[in-house]
Amino acid sequence: MEKEITLVLSPKQASSTALYTPLIANKLKVSLKQISYTKVINRSIDARGRNVKINLKLLVCIDSPPKEKGKINIKYKNVKNSEPVLIIGAGPAGLFAALKLLEIGLKPIIIERGKDVISRKRDIADIHKNKALNPDSNYAFGEGGAGTFSDGKLYTRSKKRGSNKNVLNVLTQHGASEDILIDAHPHIGSDKLPGIIKSIRESIIEYGGEIHFNTCLKSLLIESNSIKGIVTKNNEKIESRAVILATGHSARDVYFMLNELGIMLEAKSFAMGVRIEHPQELIDSIQYSCDFRGPYLPAASYGLVQQVKERGVYSFCMCPGGIIVPASTAADEMVVNGMSPSNRNTRWANSGIVVEIRPEDIKNVNINALIGLDYQQKFEKLAFANGGEGQIAPAQNMVDFVEGRISNKLAESSFRPSIQTSAMHEWIPEQIRFRLQEGFKAFGKKMKGYYTNEATLIGVESRTSSPVRIPRDRETMQHPQIKGLFPSGEGSGYAGGITSSAIDGENTAVKVDEYLK
Ligand SMILES: Cc1cc2nc3c(=O)[nH]c(=O)nc-3n(C[C@H](O)[C@H](O)[C@H](O)COP(=O)(O)OP(=O)(O)OC[C@H]3O[C@@H](n4cnc5c(N)ncnc54)[C@H](O)[C@@H]3O)c2cc1C
Repeated sequence: MEKEITLVLSPKQASSTALYTPLIANKLKVSLKQISYTKVINRSIDARGRNVKINLKLLVCIDSPPKEKGKINIKYKNVKNSEPVLIIGAGPAGLFAALKLLEIGLKPIIIERGKDVISRKRDIADIHKNKALNPDSNYAFGEGGAGTFSDGKLYTRSKKRGSNKNVLNVLTQHGASEDILIDAHPHIGSDKLPGIIKSIRESIIEYGGEIHFNTCLKSLLIESNSIKGIVTKNNEKIESRAVILATGHSARDVYFMLNELGIMLEAKSFAMGVRIEHPQELIDSIQYSCDFRGPYLPAASYGLVQQVKERGVYSFCMCPGGIIVPASTAADEMVVNGMSPSNRNTRWANSGIVVEIRPEDIKNVNINALIGLDYQQKFEKLAFANGGEGQIAPAQNMVDFVEGRISNKLAESSFRPSIQTSAMHEWIPEQIRFRLQEGFKAFGKKMKGYYTNEATLIGVESRTSSPVRIPRDRETMQHPQIKGLFPSGEGSGYAGGITSSAIDGENTAVKVDEYLK
């Protein structure tokens, strides 16, 4: 007999099967011997009370083996001689589109401007050493896209695109821990992601697909409003009846190229602000109401939101036990982002704190499709001008920023190459500045201890989502003007984050198959 039960446990009880199995037996009124199998289906933390609780949802078999066969292994077809489909970009959208094409029986040919994940690691190490930033190989560009050296948080709030189960399954099939299948907030970790991305590439090649690194899309080949292929920056023409455009939201050159070709684009809302870094111990003590987290609880996280003068101010991509990284794609711009290793064990907690920006907030007349892109770039150039030589980020203590004072001393930060004190309250655009200031004060009331000069603002967090949408037909997922052009993932403006971009990639692959038939 199989049963599903939920146990509410202390962190220590939840840490070991040997500790919680007697509690299962007690709850089900059976003997320990009768329990032949247990499996955690879901695990979540309840930190609302003084004593933190872990909710474990379990599948229990009594006097019988489990019926389920474990995780599903997806089968891929050999597509060596099948119809080719061009995919531009090897981020989560592009890679998951490619894997879905292998399942369907079409041949993915991926064009990627950046390098393979191992070579890319060297370029990223160079940024940390404050050497020149390679505009085609950095935290955003290269194999695995922005997802490779990301935090690897895998939850998506959006259910409308489809289930994330398949994406999680594929990731475990390529080396991710099966814990991601049960955790309420699954997380892979920046140390594990490169290996998984490499394994996905190996599957694509093994089954007859292709990946071309250091190959940048220059233009599209279009005839009679139908896609015929692409032209690369080396002026190589590659033909295909369908192109999945999965270039992410950092590829500004792609939006400019589409605009020049007269392909319709739309301005959309996005968000920008700063990244904030607190000591992890402080966040633990606030969230778990304790002086010391102990060995059984993970580094605590938070989520904050506040309306300030009709716009949202909110925390974004919170990284417990993480680090802040330089995520720019141009040497004269400064962009920061956050990530954490799988064990989330650094001394810092960081999060983006961003302000919603609508196209009409930038300019209320003559709004063109690229207006947000321009505003975003100006913000990043301002941050660069107010930081130090190379990728040294501008920084200010939280209370000093709110009260309009320069910080004489900054706390030690996880950010490399380094941070430099800056009067951020003076150069951050007014509509973002005052909302951040009001937001921080409000967050301090929601989380006692959060509003403190122990926290450092590091600038700027500007790549939260795309300021541009490449429109597509709801049903066919093709651009309404160009047959066979499938905008996909975060750069299309219809997805955001690893999981939703990956699901979007899978969905576009299915639509490509329908189109080619
Ligand atoms: C440091 C960091 C941490 C993050 N943490 C998380 C997290 O924890 N959870 C989460 O859900 N999301 C996180 N994100 C965001 C997440 O990585 C993105 O949402 C996701 O990668 C978007 O996937 P995508 O495939 O649509 O685009 P991208 O990942 O941006 O991939 C686009 C790819 O296209 C390539 N490309 C661009 N232009 C061209 C061209 N002209 N020719 C050829 N190739 C081109 C790029 O090199 C890139 O590889 C993080 C991002 C960063 C930078």
